[in-house]
Amino acid sequence: MNFIIFDLECDTVYSRAHGSFINEIIEIGAVRLDAKLNRIDEYHRMVRSGISKKLSGRIKKLTGITDDEIRSEGITFAEMIDEFEEWVHKTHDNVFISWSDSDIHMMVSNLGYFTDLRTIPFIDKYADLQRYTMKKLGITGSQISLTDACERLALNEEDAAHHRALDDSEMCVDIMKKCYSKREFSSFILDTKKDCFYERLFFKPYVIKSMKNPFIDKKDFNFRCPKCHRRARPAEKYRFTGHAFKARFECPKCKNVFVGNVRVKKNFDSLSIYRYTSEVGEKGSAEKNETLEKKTQKV
Ligand SMILES: [Zn+2]
Repeated sequence: MNFIIFDLECDTVYSRAHGSFINEIIEIGAVRLDAKLNRIDEYHRMVRSGISKKLSGRIKKLTGITDDEIRSEGITFAEMIDEFEEWVHKTHDNVFISWSDSDIHMMVSNLGYFTDLRTIPFIDKYADLQRYTMKKLGITGSQISLTDACERLALNEEDAAHHRALDDSEMCVDIMKKCYSKREFSSFILDTKKDCFYERLFFKPYVIKSMKNPFIDKKDFNFRCPKCHRRARPAEKYRFTGHAFKARFECPKCKNVFVGNVRVKKNFDSLSIYRYTSEVGEKGSAEKNETLEKKTQKV
């Protein structure tokens, strides 16, 4: 087994053909490691835009890449894919690794735009190093940046040019070397030919806004009185406002009046349900509330 740790830089350009903005790859960097994490070789290329003649000001500032650099060193996206594929196939049984799956997402989108491919033909196995590192560091919730991860792991990356494809790949290599455990990492390796890999990649989780949605289970909409814990009855119909369904409740015993809040988020193959109560007139917040219940169930 070998690891191919890669990173992409992109520019956001307006495509007249599609009538929308797309993230176009302008640079790729990759480092190959063997199963013992020894460095074998690396790959780097600048990619010339097929859509825009000049880089955006924002990307020049962020990456330091210049139009001249792209003009003199850049090849087309299709040429880069052919060349990269050839480089990849110098070894077999490669596990691709990137920091969050957004670069895989971007490569598939660019393939879809410039070729007739809808999947990446040379990536059979993939692992998201961001997910793995967050698990290792015991971080839940919002995603951490590559720089943030290096700081937490006490990796000195001061010399690295951030937001350059090869340097970012090198940072991932250092994180990999610091955090890698064969047994733990193996459960993060996905087979791109199975488990609806691409469907999952492109699925956007959404909050359900209609009570008629088939994923809504009425049982999740009952509440107990936060004061006396009796079963309370809704005094009105649920309505969706802000981020959640809300309804006023009245306790049959202590006459306490409160608001029941339910937020249902549809993920690829599960539902995340957040339930909490708030006082009437108060802006209910899932984070602040003591009676918060969170659950995720497979669907
Ligand atoms: Zn009560």
